[in-house]
Amino acid sequence: TVEIEKRRVYAIVDFDALDQNVQAMEEKLPQDVGMMAVIKTNAYGHGAKAIAKHLEDNDRISGYAVATAEEALELRKAGIGKMILILGYVFEKDYEDLILQDIRFGIYRKDVAQALDAAAEKCHKKALIHIKIDTGMHRIGYPVCQESVEEIKEIAGLKHLCLEGIFTHFARADEADKSYAKKAYSLFKDMIGALQKEDITFPICHCCNSAAILELPGYHENMVRAGITLYGLWPSEEMDHAFPLHPILSLYSHIVHIKTLPAGSAISYGGTYVTERESRIATIPVGYGDGYPRSLSSKGYVLVRGKPAPIVGRVCMDQMMVDVTDIPDAEYLDRVTLIGQDGNAVISMETLGEMSGRFNYELACNLGDRIPRFYQ
Ligand code: PLP
Repeated sequence: TVEIEKRRVYAIVDFDALDQNVQAMEEKLPQDVGMMAVIKTNAYGHGAKAIAKHLEDNDRISGYAVATAEEALELRKAGIGKMILILGYVFEKDYEDLILQDIRFGIYRKDVAQALDAAAEKCHKKALIHIKIDTGMHRIGYPVCQESVEEIKEIAGLKHLCLEGIFTHFARADEADKSYAKKAYSLFKDMIGALQKEDITFPICHCCNSAAILELPGYHENMVRAGITLYGLWPSEEMDHAFPLHPILSLYSHIVHIKTLPAGSAISYGGTYVTERESRIATIPVGYGDGYPRSLSSKGYVLVRGKPAPIVGRVCMDQMMVDVTDIPDAEYLDRVTLIGQDGNAVISMETLGEMSGRFNYELACNLGDRIPRFYQ
């Protein structure tokens, strides 16, 4: 704690809360359904290596999904041994490294499959692939049609590829109205059926993200991809919030300066906020350079001694000011809660999102590299 208390800003990541979230998700799944932890973008800002290392010992986690070759290779370098799937596009220069490390590729183009097959031949090893189907997101994936079946048939004929999985991603599973997701699922099943007729089958089939795990229980197939809920955050406001989720990250800083200013004092760049009364103004050494939203200028608040302290004036790159006039016991070096609980007061990532007009996923992913994360 001494080390932590000296920090300008720091995040605490609570592994017990992570375990509770995994367990809560697990209760939604039949025993034989595997759970892949989605830990792209540094585990949504929570620290991919640390999260994966912790989950390595959890038997219910079958593997990890990431977005890029670099993310996958870093995990292997850190000693992560379970299955890793790259959800997005991979450039050819990385094929061999990834094949040698048994990293799985999401495939949705024949030219890529052919180049991968050639790289696998060079490695004297099969490349493991998961075929991506587009069921309405229109981002990447094979559309559901006969032409795609023909192309996947050709891919299945390539000697150095192993078709380990097939998957799709829901564009709208987090909405109260599930009709779009239902249509997507039925398209996915049509594609699997059409491929089966051609004797092309896949040991692993997955389509559910967090929202679908919670609210589309018939769609789990034999693996799911859990992202945001692992971190105790909500996929959307439209979902039934009765499900027990525990946010795993708290963000703290300290008051590094405090002063009393007369009425009429302009605070921060542009003088956009002017004190209306004599005010005690505290300076917090956190800013948009840490991923804290600048849109919270004169809009958001932090917690000091369990009470809200409103942000006054513009959030700067590395500092911001808060009004602590109504918290008379606030002092130099007091702890400040930016995300998390202080006494009975809580600022969740969702609250921060509402206040700043930003998405909770985005806020988490943007927490800066210069914020040290401590795991406990
Ligand atoms: N699968 C894919 C392809 C994704 O892109 C994502 C996240 O964006 C996920 C799964 C995880 O989604 P969530 O964090 O909503 O569970």
